[in-house]
Amino acid sequence: MRKKLELYVHIPFCEKKCLYCDFLSFSAEDDLHKAYVDKLIEEIRVQAKNYSDYQISSIFIGGGTPSVIKAVYISNIMSAIYEAFIVESLAEVTIECNPGTVDIDKLLVYKQSGINRISVGLQSSVDKELQHLGRVHTYADFLYSYEKIRESGYKNVNIDLMSALPWQTLDSWKSTLKKVVMLKPEHISAYSLIIEEGTEFSKIYGSPEGRKFLPTEEVERDMYHSTIDILKNYGYERYEISNYAKPGYESKHNIGYWTGEEYLGFGIGASSYVYGRRFHVEKDIKKYLDINMKRDIMPLYQNIHELSTKEKMEEFMFLGLRLTKGVLVTDFYDRFGMELIDVFEKPIQKNISFGLLKYENLYLRLTDKGLDLSNRVMGDFLL
Ligand code: SF4
Repeated sequence: MRKKLELYVHIPFCEKKCLYCDFLSFSAEDDLHKAYVDKLIEEIRVQAKNYSDYQISSIFIGGGTPSVIKAVYISNIMSAIYEAFIVESLAEVTIECNPGTVDIDKLLVYKQSGINRISVGLQSSVDKELQHLGRVHTYADFLYSYEKIRESGYKNVNIDLMSALPWQTLDSWKSTLKKVVMLKPEHISAYSLIIEEGTEFSKIYGSPEGRKFLPTEEVERDMYHSTIDILKNYGYERYEISNYAKPGYESKHNIGYWTGEEYLGFGIGASSYVYGRRFHVEKDIKKYLDINMKRDIMPLYQNIHELSTKEKMEEFMFLGLRLTKGVLVTDFYDRFGMELIDVFEKPIQKNISFGLLKYENLYLRLTDKGLDLSNRVMGDFLL
């Protein structure tokens, strides 16, 4: 039987850099889009030869904003994947889109090329908050895009939201959540803003003076709890710390990542975890474009690291405990030939006694209190 593999394709282009963004993304003209996509297709074709014993269970085209480039480029990438790999007939195939960058024609091209899930980056329904983030769209732009996505027949849509934004209040966050649930997307990702070093936001809000414009820790905690309550009331099941879905619409691609499935990334900066090794693609687009992949693809890959058994066990716990159902105890034994309790007895007993972890059926999972304090619990699983 073929092994499962998830694919990630990185499109680094955006209309304009958002002020909080630390992703590998920038704006560029069509000639660079085209050159990049041609190279990406070359990378896909050359790499596929090394993975003939795998079949593809999910594809995620992320960025950046993949929807800023011409639809035909996305279609060409998808054709290259389908020609080079064996893709499961029910594979989940997602593309990230930003409001204002999609129309019916584009969405139909995506659909014809095999894409069956759209992930839209809304972040907030309040235009002032979007402006503070440096987003290029308004809430009205989002509504227009969302309508077109549904008109094009997509039945699996995710909306990305972000709390703890500058000048955001608890009420404005609740109103964003309520407006979004009324639209009935199948999936909602709700993350808290993190001010990353090196971003414009770290210059503006990184100082004690700047932090005054951010919600206090107490308000942030209230936002976190209201997210759980509101989404639950509207039928969204929290299946991961920051991800919620209508039953049956949990993201297969994300679950694969949290349960340690192998994945292969294409395009600048894309990470991979395959054959027990973790590595990422060259981040510099000029160098990426210059590499002759047909002659030797290895210069493309950096920080190749073979994970030790200890590291694999730690990752199994860090990632698996993010899922609300937790880690399957028997899965640990199947992978490592050791009982979970024999390897992690101390952290398990300690966190059970604090009411942060519990066994349920065959799973070990975080309790509600444990989910609130997940970072603390995960830290205990470092061997
Ligand atoms: S759209 Fe996303 S990837 Fe692009 S700059 Fe904004 S946050 Fe970064």
